[in-house]
Amino acid sequence: MESHNTKYSNPTDEDYNINQDQAIVTRRIQRLSLHLHPISVPPVFSDNLQLLTCTGRAKINVNAENLSEYMRGKHRDIQERVYEYFNARPDLQTPLEITKDAHRELCMRQLMGLVREAGIRPFKYVVEDPAKYFAILEAVGSVDMSLGIKMGVQYSLWGGSVLNLGTKKHKDKYFEGIDNMEYPGCFAMTELHHGSNVQGLQTVATFDPFRDEFIIDTPNDGAIKWWIGNAAVHGKFATVFAKLMLPTHDTKGVSDMGVHAFIVPIRDMKTHEALPGIEIHDCGHKVGLNGVDNGALKFRSVRIPRDNLLNRFGGVSRDGKYTSSLPSINKRFAATLGELVGGRVGLAYSSVGVLKIAVTIAVRYSLLRQQFGPPKQPEISILDYQSQQHKLMPMLASTYAFHFATSHLVEKYSEMKRSHDEELVGDVHTLSAGLKAYVTSYTAKSLSTCREACGGHGYAAVNRFGSLRNDHDIFQTFEGDNTVLLQQVAAYLLKQYKEKFQGGTLTVTWNYLRESMNTYLSQPNPVTSRWEGEDHLRNPNFQLDAFRYRTSRLLQSVAVRLRKHSKTLGSFGAWNRCLNHLLTLAESHIESVILAKFIEAVRSCPDASSQAALKLVCDLYALDRIWNDIGTYRNVDYVAPNKAKAIHKLSEYLSFQVKNIARELVDGFELPDHVTRAPIGTQVAKEAYSQYTQYAGF
Ligand SMILES: Cc1cc2nc3c(=O)[nH]c(=O)nc-3n(C[C@H](O)[C@H](O)[C@H](O)COP(=O)(O)OP(=O)(O)OC[C@H]3O[C@@H](n4cnc5c(N)ncnc54)[C@H](O)[C@@H]3O)c2cc1C
Repeated sequence: MESHNTKYSNPTDEDYNINQDQAIVTRRIQRLSLHLHPISVPPVFSDNLQLLTCTGRAKINVNAENLSEYMRGKHRDIQERVYEYFNARPDLQTPLEITKDAHRELCMRQLMGLVREAGIRPFKYVVEDPAKYFAILEAVGSVDMSLGIKMGVQYSLWGGSVLNLGTKKHKDKYFEGIDNMEYPGCFAMTELHHGSNVQGLQTVATFDPFRDEFIIDTPNDGAIKWWIGNAAVHGKFATVFAKLMLPTHDTKGVSDMGVHAFIVPIRDMKTHEALPGIEIHDCGHKVGLNGVDNGALKFRSVRIPRDNLLNRFGGVSRDGKYTSSLPSINKRFAATLGELVGGRVGLAYSSVGVLKIAVTIAVRYSLLRQQFGPPKQPEISILDYQSQQHKLMPMLASTYAFHFATSHLVEKYSEMKRSHDEELVGDVHTLSAGLKAYVTSYTAKSLSTCREACGGHGYAAVNRFGSLRNDHDIFQTFEGDNTVLLQQVAAYLLKQYKEKFQGGTLTVTWNYLRESMNTYLSQPNPVTSRWEGEDHLRNPNFQLDAFRYRTSRLLQSVAVRLRKHSKTLGSFGAWNRCLNHLLTLAESHIESVILAKFIEAVRSCPDASSQAALKLVCDLYALDRIWNDIGTYRNVDYVAPNKAKAIHKLSEYLSFQVKNIARELVDGFELPDHVTRAPIGTQVAKEAYSQYTQYAGF
């Protein structure tokens, strides 16, 4: 039986924490003061610090090969083909210093090379095997993130809109050209005045029944399509989102049928000149992703055939009648946007790929780099500093957690594409919004932490953090701004909550809301809130319970607040009054989902030593998150003061334990040096400095 109340007491930990703390602090102050006053304080004591070996328990023996075998997605082979292709083509590798125009041309050549020379045809997989498509996207993103995004624009956005919003006639006409890159295209949704608020778009497509055509117009400068990837230089077509206007016989003259998508040729197939009525400009140099040619499009009475309306959710007949299987503008709009979640899945998945690269470089370098140390003894590795462990080990644990969560998302997405099951559509929509928002925000912050953790050498462009950070930063905004996406998660949770309390059945597949809401809403158990034993804290039931308890409380309290405020402020005002609360709720829920998937992955791991390593990492992920939000748990007495202290102590200790296997854990990501491409993060540590100095000409 589990011993819930055994004290967390390991003799060596105690030594480490109590006997030596003071000595370490004193010595660190002396060391640092030596820096400030180089000739001042001589060492006054000799110590016998065991920073390097302060293990209470034996280090887990991890076999990195077995671990990566388990981690490896089923499409590793195609990723290797991508890596090998670019590795063998130095002329297609992006140099550190490159102009915007040269980068754009290189990026196009990289994509052409991939498709036409390496024979990797991503579009086929968008249809047949989305998991394989996302694996390719992740791999090309590690070659150059601009390439990943350019590929995403071509296949997920332009191609995806044709496949998912169009019908057979569109697929028949455009599939081949999109696939083989003869039809490079764009996805033109955003306008100068409207990004997140897609329903506020102003571009219009008016049906002309006499000529059986739509006329696309930009009614004012606020409606100029802005930020459109592939538009500035390479695109021949664009899927343009515009309000569909149908002529009526009343005094209004036209009727607004809501936002629809239209295929609009933008450049001549032969001359590549912009077509009549289309004005194209360059959005210019960006903070990152300069290999992608983002442009602005303005339309003046541009005529396209009626067939160019992507009519899966609503069509117009020859005589100008509108038909749709969906009853309202809102429903059609939701269905249209719902079909575009693939882009979000790709971003969440690729963001984990970026995090893997950054963590790998930072951990390898931190193991190699030595600064300071006990007097008259060799310097120690910077990863032996508790502060460095604190920066990097929870991040390493999160990378593992996100790996399993986004793999799960990809599976669910593929299943949804096969089955079109309605319940799954709602789940995937919410999960992709939540994971995209949560993971990309986390990765963006972590990239700065990794740079800083690598000191001055982290700032050298050759060591990659700068480009990773700049290129990745916009992942937080495009394909749905993160703050906006988290609100969709919160809204979905509230819908489930309402249905539950109105006696309806829940459609949500996240069972914990269905099964345990009442338990979670009862008062915390005063006995368990004091349990501080390691067995208890490392028990997945406790960890999941803590995450879900927090989500359920947040859900219930925000529902009450919304009800109260809507009486005076109306629903929009009430939502805004509770907005931060709602965002916390959404994040809390996503963290619960991530933890649940991680726990499942640990359980399913067939190799004992890999499983032990993953269990350690999973515990760190869970306890670190609980500790980060300890105020919330304390406020509601879910955790008593002694337990809070034990959680903190154990999470620091787990960080230390994870540090001991950090090398194997990053090796588990199986990223060869030609993918990480940072000299300081090279696999063969003894070569790191020499590879690095070569860049400076030594
Ligand atoms: C490099 C790049 C490439 C792009 N590629 C394309 C492309 O190919 N095609 C395309 O159509 N678009 C593209 N975009 C546009 C992109 O999708 C939008 O920028 C994005 O949807 C966000 O919209 P926005 O810029 O209008 O931000 P805004 O919506 O104006 O957001 C600005 C701020 O306001 C906050 N905010 C907005 N609404 C709310 C709310 N309801 N509640 C709380 N806070 C809110 C946001 O959190 C954010 O912090 C691209 C953008 C960039 C920068």
